[in-house]
Amino acid sequence: MAQLLDGKSLSLEIREDVKNRVEKLIHKNGITPHLAVILVGDNPASQSYVKGKETACRKAGIISTVVKVDALISEVELLKIVDDLNNDTSVHGILLQLPIPKHLNAENVIEHIRSDKDVDGFTPKNVALLTNGFPHLVPCTPLGIIRILKKYHIPIEGQHCVVIGRSQIVGKPMASLLLRENGTVTICHSRTKDLQAMAKTADILVVAMGKPKMVNSSYIKTGATVIDVGISRVDDVIVGDVEFESAEKVAGFITPVPGGVGPMTIACLLENTLTCYESLVENKR
Ligand code: NAD
Repeated sequence: MAQLLDGKSLSLEIREDVKNRVEKLIHKNGITPHLAVILVGDNPASQSYVKGKETACRKAGIISTVVKVDALISEVELLKIVDDLNNDTSVHGILLQLPIPKHLNAENVIEHIRSDKDVDGFTPKNVALLTNGFPHLVPCTPLGIIRILKKYHIPIEGQHCVVIGRSQIVGKPMASLLLRENGTVTICHSRTKDLQAMAKTADILVVAMGKPKMVNSSYIKTGATVIDVGISRVDDVIVGDVEFESAEKVAGFITPVPGGVGPMTIACLLENTLTCYESLVENKR
């Protein structure tokens, strides 16, 4: 039976640490860290994610402002909102909740966010820094996964790390971070031939496909570490991309869904907000 990688409890440790850091920063600078989240439209999943982020900020002592805008907003109007937040010195972090409606170009809007307020690490400058091996603001989900691996002393150096999924949000930055830790990295995606055979060579298997329970024990090498990023709602139950029941019999370590990667994403968002704050408020002194 695999050992469970408990992202939930690690995330609570990190959130407690962030709370203590926030208190000290306010005491030192007289300025409270502030995250602004832009929510376009009324997608229920996005609303619930934003609510979770708001609550986490409040508990950590970080101000959180949700800028709610109509789904029919024009791109010009949305860019103006981003500009205003870019120029607002009381705001340290800006997050555009994805997805946004199809008539808007998400890449354009993200590119507009100041790179030093880019808590998601999605702007071209932050992507380039990560790809070149000098990460500054790193996407929260892959960052959280590295934190889990380190917490449980799972070696990355020299290990074969297979990442299933090549999204900008998870797969690609995950691969960059694992490479930076000296893993030997393979990226698989929807056009990969014989995914099962590829996955089975992994010492560390990160699954970020958005295909509920697709990866079962036949994809997993005995003793491998399995990180399940997937979040899907099936029959009103949240499930991952890994079929946990069979996978845990083969894997050495495994993240549950829920309670694995998800809570770490929010914890790393809080940390990234402080990274922005420090570079904007502290380094300017
Ligand atoms: P995405 O749809 O942008 O990308 C999915 C990737 O999976 C693509 O690169 C695609 O090539 C690959 N893929 C799809 N089907 C495949 C197949 N049959 N075989 C091999 N590869 C395949 O999704 P995303 O934004 O990267 O998210 C992936 C999953 O992770 C989703 O379930 C999402 O909800 C979840 N997610 C969770 C968190 C978290 O905090 N836990 C954060 C972000 C995303």
